[in-house]
Amino acid sequence: MVTGRNALHRWLPTGGGLRDEDWAGRHRLMTRLLAAGLAALVAYGALRDELGGGNLTTWLILLTLPCVVAAATLRGHRLPSVFVALGFTMVCAAFVAMTHGRTEAHFTFFIVVGALALYRDWAPFGVFLVATTAHHGIFGILDAELTYGHHSAQKHPLFWALIHGVAVLLAATFQVVQWRLTEAEEQRAQENLDESQAQLTVAFDETPVPMAMLAPDGRILRTNSAYRSWLRLPDELPAGFLTSDLPIEPVDLSKAPMLDELVKQNGSSITTRQYRRKDTGETLWVEVHGTNVHDRSGRLRLIFVHCLDVTENHRHQEELQNQVRHDALTGLLSRSAFEHDLLTLLAADEPVSVLYLDVDRFKSINDGAGHAAGDELLRGLATRLSATVPAGALVARLGGDEFVVALAGPPRTGARVGHAILAAFAEPLEVGDGHLQVSVSIGLAAGHGPEHGDETVLAADTAMYAAKRAGGNRLQTFSDDMRVKVREKIAAESRLREALSGDLTETLPIWFQPIVATDTGRIVGAEALVRLRTPQGELLSPFHFIPAAEETGMIVPLGEHVLRRAVQHLIEWSDLDYVSVNVSPRQLAEPDFVPLLAHLLATHPALDPSRLVVEITETALLGSSVDVRERLETIKNLGVRIALDDFGTGYSSLTWLQSVPADVVKLDRSFVAGLAADPRKASIIQAVLWLARSLNMSVVAEGVEDPADWHALRDLDCPSCQGYLFGKPAPADEFTALLQRSLLKV
Ligand code: C2E
Ligand code: MG
Ligand code: MG
Repeated sequence: MVTGRNALHRWLPTGGGLRDEDWAGRHRLMTRLLAAGLAALVAYGALRDELGGGNLTTWLILLTLPCVVAAATLRGHRLPSVFVALGFTMVCAAFVAMTHGRTEAHFTFFIVVGALALYRDWAPFGVFLVATTAHHGIFGILDAELTYGHHSAQKHPLFWALIHGVAVLLAATFQVVQWRLTEAEEQRAQENLDESQAQLTVAFDETPVPMAMLAPDGRILRTNSAYRSWLRLPDELPAGFLTSDLPIEPVDLSKAPMLDELVKQNGSSITTRQYRRKDTGETLWVEVHGTNVHDRSGRLRLIFVHCLDVTENHRHQEELQNQVRHDALTGLLSRSAFEHDLLTLLAADEPVSVLYLDVDRFKSINDGAGHAAGDELLRGLATRLSATVPAGALVARLGGDEFVVALAGPPRTGARVGHAILAAFAEPLEVGDGHLQVSVSIGLAAGHGPEHGDETVLAADTAMYAAKRAGGNRLQTFSDDMRVKVREKIAAESRLREALSGDLTETLPIWFQPIVATDTGRIVGAEALVRLRTPQGELLSPFHFIPAAEETGMIVPLGEHVLRRAVQHLIEWSDLDYVSVNVSPRQLAEPDFVPLLAHLLATHPALDPSRLVVEITETALLGSSVDVRERLETIKNLGVRIALDDFGTGYSSLTWLQSVPADVVKLDRSFVAGLAADPRKASIIQAVLWLARSLNMSVVAEGVEDPADWHALRDLDCPSCQGYLFGKPAPADEFTALLQRSLLKV
């Protein structure tokens, strides 16, 4: 019995589970329906002339009225809903009576039972069932004709009351099933909700990350223990505790309050701010992760914040920045920090003087006294420099022994400071146990506006070189004729950079100039000469960009391009003895140069390496730090030949020639031009030719323009010539045509 009741209990809905707001909505609807039903009934009764003093229908209608009032005014859930059920019973009964027991009028009971299911409560439901059955029984007995539309029912009203009651009950059954299923679903949803609530509680309360939930008006709704212990808050916050009541405040009051910032965000946000503890004044950096939660209508309900104390990170970062900003050896500004600060200085509406300093003969001091002493010297220099320049001036070490000072003021001010620096170094510097007398060369330039940062430093650098050339230990102010050079240099650099990033065959075409056998005039070789084509289509000669390429290191990719193209053409021009390629000192000093050459030759095993000639100048041999001789030997070991270019323009002496591992000597144009008319030139050439022959070297005379010079060279037995007389440098296809014509000559 008990189990049977339990089973019933399990299968039947509990009822009464609607939330207040849901119940209120449904009850309002039911009450209005009841009132509407009543009004419709009155209208229908009046129309059919069924309303009259004291008849049953009128009584029923009159009894419905207090039900509507009770439903609308009584508090609580059960009683008002019971009045609705009673009211509806009355309305249905009145309607049945008005239609004199028409069977169709009984349908209203079924409609009402469906409607009452909205309450999801046994009370109105049960009351309606009982009241309906009672109505059918009692009214059937009192006035059967007004209650039932057929004879058998009129005869046995109680029996038919039962039948109607059961029918209504059955109609209600499906409502009850539906109601039970809904309850089950709700229960499951509630369980899920409880579980996620529990998870949230664990995740929120147990996590070591300080978290809080804020209302958009700044109230703190909930905090976790990490948050409370971080901000030293009590476990229970007073109601209405606001973010402004927190024991920290932002350091930068000019910024919008954090809460405003968070409220503005659409989804989630990360903001880092510096705060100060109100009690101790200690500052801390906080990274606030905010997530805004909106309700269905899009209104901001709450803001979920995670607060990370990133004070330590910030300190590290500051330290790191400080390190990056300063030169490790001297503690002066680093190059990047200087460049940055200079822009700020230039941005102010005032001219800025830049002094570029280089220690005279630092290399020999460094080599002579040792690197430790060199470092000490640089530190001492930095200290003296900082002590000499006025406060607020930027002082940086750009690397090596180069320093730079920048200060607000016209060149006049800069010059005064420059002279003060020169004077400061009149006293020797203490280095180790002894003293070192040093001097500096200073270049001065002034600039205005942040767009001239690089230009001004470059100008000061240029002026410094002029000071150095003039003997050092002096100040040189940048002049306008230097300016043109600087502008050109900057322009050349950017042009070259652009060319190197384009299609190299278009932007950096390689032209070829024939080298001929002197006796026959037949082409034996070619010199590869690079050109630069500007975006405007202008062709620039190497003098306009090779120096910039050398200075910036762009000579490396440029040289690689020239070598590759030269090798390609060598393979194409199988009738040509050789192609010579110019290699600059910087290129030769690059550790990658020889491997590149070896790789190129390895990819073309059919190519005879001696058909490739590398042209180097004396400067490559003299001024380089790497052992160029050794490098040249490796190149020779690859089978590649070496030519000494522009011989006669530098220090070149005849005896010197013996020590150079060259295969070819190229006599400079200055020797060759006017040779026929100048017996002195002829005798020098004769000596070079004689020596070269004895050293097993070949000779090319460059810059042959005049037939008379050619004839003189032929008389001197100079093996080859190069010059406009035989052909100017030309694009590869033109050179191909020239080569073919030359071959036909023989
Ligand atoms: P260079 O190696 O001495 O090249 C010879 C230069 O003399 C070429 O000038 C050529 O056009 C010019 N020339 C030849 N015959 C005559 C003549 O009869 N009369 C006159 N007045 N000039 C003549 P270009 O092409 O302007 O090259 C100038 C310099 O640029 C070259 O001097 C070379 O040192 C350098 N250069 C050219 N191409 C390259 C390259 O690919 N790499 C490197 N590193 N330097 C290059
Ligand atoms: Mg050359
Ligand atoms: Mg030359």
